[in-house]
Amino acid sequence: MARVKHAKAAANYIHHSKNPKAQHNAASHLRKKRDREVINVPGWEHLRETASQIKMHTLSNLDKYLEEFERKATQNGVKVHWAQDGNEMNEIVYGILDQHQVPYLVKSKSMLTEECHLNDYLEKRGIDVFDTDLGERIVQLSKETPSHIVVPAMHKTREDISELFHDTMKTEKGNLDAKYLTLAARKDLREKFMNARAALTGVNFGVAETGTVTIATNEGNADLGVNKAPVQIHCMGLEKMVPRQMDLSVFLRLLGRSATGQSITTYSSHYQRPKPGGEMHIVLVDNGRSKHLGMEDFWTALKCIRCGACMNTCPVYRSGGGHSYGYTVPGPIGSIITPARDINQYDDLPFASSLCGSCSDVCPVKIDIHGQLLKWREVIVDHGIVDKSKSIPMKMGSKVLSKPSWYRFAGSIARKVMKQFPGLVSSMVKDWTRGRELPEVPKESFRSWYIKNKKKNDK
Ligand code: SF4
Repeated sequence: MARVKHAKAAANYIHHSKNPKAQHNAASHLRKKRDREVINVPGWEHLRETASQIKMHTLSNLDKYLEEFERKATQNGVKVHWAQDGNEMNEIVYGILDQHQVPYLVKSKSMLTEECHLNDYLEKRGIDVFDTDLGERIVQLSKETPSHIVVPAMHKTREDISELFHDTMKTEKGNLDAKYLTLAARKDLREKFMNARAALTGVNFGVAETGTVTIATNEGNADLGVNKAPVQIHCMGLEKMVPRQMDLSVFLRLLGRSATGQSITTYSSHYQRPKPGGEMHIVLVDNGRSKHLGMEDFWTALKCIRCGACMNTCPVYRSGGGHSYGYTVPGPIGSIITPARDINQYDDLPFASSLCGSCSDVCPVKIDIHGQLLKWREVIVDHGIVDKSKSIPMKMGSKVLSKPSWYRFAGSIARKVMKQFPGLVSSMVKDWTRGRELPEVPKESFRSWYIKNKKKNDK
């Protein structure tokens, strides 16, 4: 896979996107909504701490809880499958659909199936997939990938969607009415729901003590699919586990508020056993999570409940767009989980951050995101895979800074060059000066100024 170059991709997005501000505006709006909602919850910090502790405990005992979950789910009549990687997950899902001769699948939002490229896999084998979450449907019809984990079409404006629906669903040209457009998508999908013989969803939480899966949506599309189709499949990453049903009272209060500034998502559905005459499958997917869990400095990133709050607050994500991360999960959390999956492909992402720490401040499960971003930089430098444009100046800088005499000499040369050839210096650091001006060159170094003034004051 090609190495992701975030800065280049983000520049491309800013310069060539029709609406480079769309993502920024939508994410900022969600961040403000979150703040307004969170301020009204007494003990919010305590809730975050509790969620963090529950997740740390679960991840530390994940083997035990996964086995308990499998046992309970099997007792409930659910068929539980284990997939080591994305390919295995795709094979399992295809196997179930093929066994039932299913011509198509209705799917509600699942970032895990995006991560494992399930749609492509099934479509190549003759099974159509209809994404039924409105945002997912929009990106599917656009032949794009999600730019945000909660709001997949965040980068689109109403004008884009109106044009897309006109081209694909023959809606009235130029009609920008949100209700009209939503109803058109709903009508288009309704027939698919009604005749579906299989439905697939992602999972927000898997409860070990009951073998239940919990799915939070705002559109009810997961419920419509699962309750109508005889075969239901739920694909779940291993880290989605919580020990007890009562733990959901903590996580569901945090999730909606952090994600979209709602006190709770419109539907929180719990599936425990197959419908009469139906089949229920749960696919537990590893795909790099066990390896990640074994990383001493980074395992707590698996606490993530995929609320998207860190994306909404991140100045780099908001400006550079979600697609510039080259991975299903973008933004600050994407930048710390991707190198755990493939350090060579995603070594650039931990550098796509101002390290302002806003991501860690909003994270409902208290992941030290900016701390891990910094730690990944250290690991990447130690691996020797950092870009030469970064590593060479850093090595030179460290040599110069380690000897006062070299530092003084370099400072005097730099002042002279900056004074006489400002254009040359500017072009040498053009990435830095693109949005800033070079600082005014001081007449002398701080050191000589200090010595002079100290002498004056001592007299
Ligand atoms: S890292 Fe935290 S803020 Fe970001 S998506 Fe995960 S839970 Fe939400």
